[in-house]
Amino acid sequence: MTPEEKIVSKLSKTDNRTRETVDKVKREVCKEYGIDCPPNIKLIEAYRDMKLNDKELEALLRIRPVRSLSGVVNISILTKPFECPGECIYCPSQEGSPKSYLDNEPAVMRARLNDYDPKRQIENRLESLHMTGHPTDKIELRIVGETWSHYKKEYREEFIKDSFDALNQKESKTLKEAQAINERAKHKMVCLSIETRPDFIDKKEIEHLRKLGVTMVELGVQSIYDDVLIKNKRGHTVKSTVLATKLLKDAGFKVCYQIMPNLPGSTIEKDLAMLEIIFSDERFKPDFFKLYPCMVLKEAPLYEDYLKGKYLPYTEKEIENIIIQAKKEIFPYWVRVQRVIRDIPSQSVIAGGGSSNLRELIEKKADKEGWSCKCIRCREVGKDYDPKEKIKLFEEKYRSSGGTEIVLTFENEQRTKLFSLLRLRIPSDPYPEVLENTSIIREIHTYGEQLQIKKNKIMEKSPQHKGLGKKLIREAEKRAPTDTISVISGVGARGYWKKNGYFLKDSYMLKNI
Ligand code: SF4
Ligand SMILES: [Zn+2]
Repeated sequence: MTPEEKIVSKLSKTDNRTRETVDKVKREVCKEYGIDCPPNIKLIEAYRDMKLNDKELEALLRIRPVRSLSGVVNISILTKPFECPGECIYCPSQEGSPKSYLDNEPAVMRARLNDYDPKRQIENRLESLHMTGHPTDKIELRIVGETWSHYKKEYREEFIKDSFDALNQKESKTLKEAQAINERAKHKMVCLSIETRPDFIDKKEIEHLRKLGVTMVELGVQSIYDDVLIKNKRGHTVKSTVLATKLLKDAGFKVCYQIMPNLPGSTIEKDLAMLEIIFSDERFKPDFFKLYPCMVLKEAPLYEDYLKGKYLPYTEKEIENIIIQAKKEIFPYWVRVQRVIRDIPSQSVIAGGGSSNLRELIEKKADKEGWSCKCIRCREVGKDYDPKEKIKLFEEKYRSSGGTEIVLTFENEQRTKLFSLLRLRIPSDPYPEVLENTSIIREIHTYGEQLQIKKNKIMEKSPQHKGLGKKLIREAEKRAPTDTISVISGVGARGYWKKNGYFLKDSYMLKNI
């Protein structure tokens, strides 16, 4: 027996294991063998070689467990450099990288190593997720790069087909065939997101996004003030944002806003007012949110203005205060704040931005001062799931882009731990036609540690698969004022909906209720 196998074997026979137990057993065994402690990656290998079926131990050995805490693993891949039609003054350009990305960003380095080939990028990510002990049966694929909708149609279609092929581990002849295979594949694509500009979203683009299987769209909104957009040469106005938001929500997409405080032409007061408007004015109200305070980068035209003293970015403290205020008072229960800072290597940031561990710093401050952010991400149950805890159903109902949004959640009494969430929309102008006279489920998610779908040993530890999702679907069906309910489902999640009585029509799952 190797030292690694001995550690794993000892751990598999230990009760009430924690990460500290893993470290303790590692030290004991290594002392006995007179060797240095092996990294967890070696223990995961030994665990797999030994063919044990101990999901709890597997989860304990996992490296960076937070990667799969939200119930699915996220894989981000990049599209190749093209020619973005935008001239945004804060946006960096660098030979060989897609516009708005720098070549020292880890995601760009990975993509370059793989020649921006989606297949190779996905295969590499799957391999490293597997090696570090993460389950890979439910994948959220995020495609980033320049404006998605500006790439040639053929490139977009091939890119997505290749992505499905990588997950299917099989080459298909057509995109449609690749999607059909993915319904039963080992790595199911449960969410597919792209990023684009608001002025590229119209009915035609909506149809194409659905053809590809996209379920979520990240909109580069940046500001909701026309004067700021013009000053920064965004090339679109707030009107485009409002229209795109409505079209996307009415087609069932989840909508994420990328917003940039600290832009030339704005002020701290204006930025705080913008955040308040975004979450109270029904023309906006995104489901997901990313805050990217503007940074000065050498590779962007804004650098010149900065050198000439025409642009003075906020200080780190000022940025921190904006985020604190937003977390304390502005973000509602129904938004998931994905990021509060863009993760650019600090050596490339000339000014603006703020420290890359800002989120952690603010969380520590919140703990100390006794307040917390209400957003979804901050309440997701994660590791501290207690099966004995009482779970209650909550309902948030609000107007949003001409329609009504009902967000149903299972949470603990104090609303500090979120177990499961469903978004139901009663649209105002549903499009495509298949959605007419339907209420649309735009999102369903159960949080907590991700489980292998078929194996069930660790179920006690996590709320997943305890039927919470199913209960939320029943609640949504009761509340829908229409005879039919529709779902924008990731291609890989269609099987789940079929089991719940839904059938595929066009690219949506439908049920007559
Ligand atoms: S649209 Fe996006 S990628 Fe293009 S220049 Fe503007 S910020 Fe950069
Ligand atoms: Zn939050």
